[in-house]
Amino acid sequence: MKKVTIVVPCHNESVALPAFYREVDEVTAELKEYEFELLFVDDGSTDDTLADLKKMIEEDKRIRYITFSRNFGKEAAMLAGLEHATGDYVAVMDADLQDPPKLLPKMLKYLESGDYDSVATRRSTRQGEPALRSFFAKMFYKLINKMSKVEMVDGARDYRLMTRQVVDAIVECQEYNRYSKGLWSFVGFRTKWISYENVERVAGKTNWSFWQLFAYAIEGIVAFTTLPLTLSALFGILFCLVAFVLIIVIVVKTLLFGDPVSGWPSLVCIIMFVSGVQLFFLGIIGEYLAKAYLETKKRPKYIIREMTESKDVKK
Ligand code: UDP
Ligand code: MG
Repeated sequence: MKKVTIVVPCHNESVALPAFYREVDEVTAELKEYEFELLFVDDGSTDDTLADLKKMIEEDKRIRYITFSRNFGKEAAMLAGLEHATGDYVAVMDADLQDPPKLLPKMLKYLESGDYDSVATRRSTRQGEPALRSFFAKMFYKLINKMSKVEMVDGARDYRLMTRQVVDAIVECQEYNRYSKGLWSFVGFRTKWISYENVERVAGKTNWSFWQLFAYAIEGIVAFTTLPLTLSALFGILFCLVAFVLIIVIVVKTLLFGDPVSGWPSLVCIIMFVSGVQLFFLGIIGEYLAKAYLETKKRPKYIIREMTESKDVKK
C-alpha cells in the first residue's frame, strides 16, 4: 500500500483546524487504497494550535506534528514537513482550506498514471483578494518571468502533490532564502497543472501583510535571477557613454563660442539624478550581498522544539 504524507504548515490556525481536519478526514476516508500520514508543522503559533494538534493525535494515529521554537515562516515549515515526511507521495496543503483537499483524489490519479512526477495547482481567479494585492502580484509575475529562466506560474499555489523523487530533489536544495515556487520549477520533473477557482479562507485571517509579501517577492527575484546586477552594469556603461558625448559637446561648444558660466541648476539636477541611480543600484547589489551573507552563515532554517516520535522517521 502506498503511503501519502500531507504536510500542513500552521501558524495560528486554531480556528481553522477543526474544519480542515474534518474535510481531510472525509477525503482520505474515501481513498482506501492509500495509507495516510498527516504531518502538521506548527510554525511557532501563539494560539492553541499545538494543544489542538495534541488533542487530535489522541483520536487519530495518522497525525504527527512538529513544533518550532518560534515562528520561522511558511517556507521553513514546508521544508521541515518535506524533510520529515515518510510517504511515497507527499502533498503540501494550507490549513485554511484555501487548498481544497477535495482535489487530492484527482491529483493522485495523475501521479498513478505514471505520466507525471508532480501535480501542481494554480488559482484561475484571484477573487476575494484585495485589488492592490492582485495588481502587484500580477506585476511581480510578469517581471520575474521576463528576468528569470526559471518559469513562475501566475496564481501558482504551494499546494502540490509529488513523488518521493521530487521531494528528495527539493530537500536537496538547502538554501537559506527559500522561494518554493521557484525551487519546484528549478528541480523540474513532469508537472501537471490543474486550476481551480480561488477559495476564501475558512476561518482566521491571513498571515501575510502587504509588506511581507513585498519582501517575499524581492526574495523570489534575488533567489532566481541576477539580471538586476547585470542591469546595473549596463546602466553604468550607458551613463558613461552619455557623459562622454556630453563632454565632447561641451568642449567643442566652449572652444567655438567661449564659456559663459551658466547652467548650474541643470548641473545640480543631473548630479541628483545620477547619484539617485547610483544609490539605487548600490541598493540592488546590497540586496544580493545581504542574501549571500545570510547563506554563508549556514544557520538552521528552523529549530524544532518538540515533535511526535515515529519509528520510520528518517531524520
Ligand atoms: N503559515 C506558516 N507560517 C507563517 C505564515 C503562514 O506556517 O509564518 C501557514 C499558514 O498557517 C497557512 C499557510 O501557511 O496554512 C498559508 O498562510 P495564509 O493562509 O496566511 O496565506 P495566504 O493564503 O493568505 O497567502
Ligand atoms: Mg490562506
